[in-house]
Amino acid sequence: MEVTQQQAPQNVGWIEVVAGCMFSGKTEELIRRLRRAQIARQKVVIFKPRIDNRYSANQIVSHNTQSLESIVIDKADEIPALAKDAQVVGIDEVQFFDMSVVAICNKLADDGKRVIVAGLDQDYKGIPFEPMPQLLSVAEYITKTLAICVVCGNPADRTQRKIANADRVVVGAADSYEARCRKCHYIPE
Ligand code: ZN
Repeated sequence: MEVTQQQAPQNVGWIEVVAGCMFSGKTEELIRRLRRAQIARQKVVIFKPRIDNRYSANQIVSHNTQSLESIVIDKADEIPALAKDAQVVGIDEVQFFDMSVVAICNKLADDGKRVIVAGLDQDYKGIPFEPMPQLLSVAEYITKTLAICVVCGNPADRTQRKIANADRVVVGAADSYEARCRKCHYIPE
């Protein structure tokens, strides 16, 4: 659920999590919320981990090519200093940061900031992808985005890896992954 103008908390920060599989529109949703904050003349700062080099170095870019200026960082502990003056803090691909990002997001929210993070909530095996479970637990607002299963057309919340690789993180675009429902998803050998 998104916070609307009418119900937005006053004088307090909070955390919003946009969670889902690949191709579910997480980044589009993050960009949409951050753009609206910019239109409202709020100070917005956006981060993404260096691991995600696809498309553009200094922007967050969704699969449908919407984009927004962002700061590429190596570690979550770079965020507090860079977000000092921001009212709204966005983080894309948050599953690529370590567990310290949970305490950092909490502190930003405690300091009165609106924190919006987007990330993969399951790895390619369908196992919860830390730190997403912890972020979902401490967030005030949670949105689960679903894709469409490429096999059967049902709502999909799993990311199917189409290449043989047992590493948890293999960064790739459309050709290495596709969205599938729980019935059509399988763990590759
Ligand atoms: Zn399916």
